[in-house]
Amino acid sequence: MSNEIEKLKDILQNSDNIVFFGGAGVSTESGIPDFRSADGLYNESYNYPPETILSHSFFMENTEEFYRFYREKMLYPGAKPNNAHKALAELEKKGKLKAVITQNVDGLHTLAGSKNVLELHGSALRNICMSCKECFSVDIIIESKGIPLCPCGGVIKPDVVLYEEGLSPIVMSKATKAIHDADVLIIGGTSLNVYPAAGMINHYRGNKLVLINKTETSFDRYADLIIREKIGVALDSAVGKGERYDIQGV
Ligand code: ZN
Repeated sequence: MSNEIEKLKDILQNSDNIVFFGGAGVSTESGIPDFRSADGLYNESYNYPPETILSHSFFMENTEEFYRFYREKMLYPGAKPNNAHKALAELEKKGKLKAVITQNVDGLHTLAGSKNVLELHGSALRNICMSCKECFSVDIIIESKGIPLCPCGGVIKPDVVLYEEGLSPIVMSKATKAIHDADVLIIGGTSLNVYPAAGMINHYRGNKLVLINKTETSFDRYADLIIREKIGVALDSAVGKGERYDIQGV
């Protein structure tokens, strides 16, 4: 175990008010490509750039084309929680971790057993009829062709925050409070360049800011501990093997 991971283990053992803030890098080990990395979706060839297709106006005006892209590039029905998701669920179960704040829409933290998950960009696992507000699982998107329709005739929309749409003020305020009140803040798998990450992190008041990222971020200079390791490896080693594998269904 590296020196840095030993330090993280110490920090985790001595706190019961840990908050985790994560981005796309948390899910790459589950086979979901990093949305904004060089190898991610932005290099894929499509008629429009992903930022355009994944915008509110494109959804409203070209719903069928939106869904063609969305089904192919945004849904990973076979993806399973990895060691990072599982370690965080374990920390929460032990009463040490108070919240997981994520920019991901894949729902893998919840699948791993985490309860207090604040999904800044929503969840692809929830889908809502735009007419009657009925909620559907992701299956209705996967199993339908073209535009998925509610029995009432309304168009079903994923409960994810598209470009041009605002984030939920309730989720934002819960996340900001969790960060403000945290003793330990672990940031992983994000370069922190995506709104509103950087602004939220500024609310942290503690002195145990841990960054786990393979590459440099603009927040490195504020960090009390930097771990240049895969997030699954770092958290798995620091949380400790054993009890985590008792979680049923994971
Ligand atoms: Zn409906």
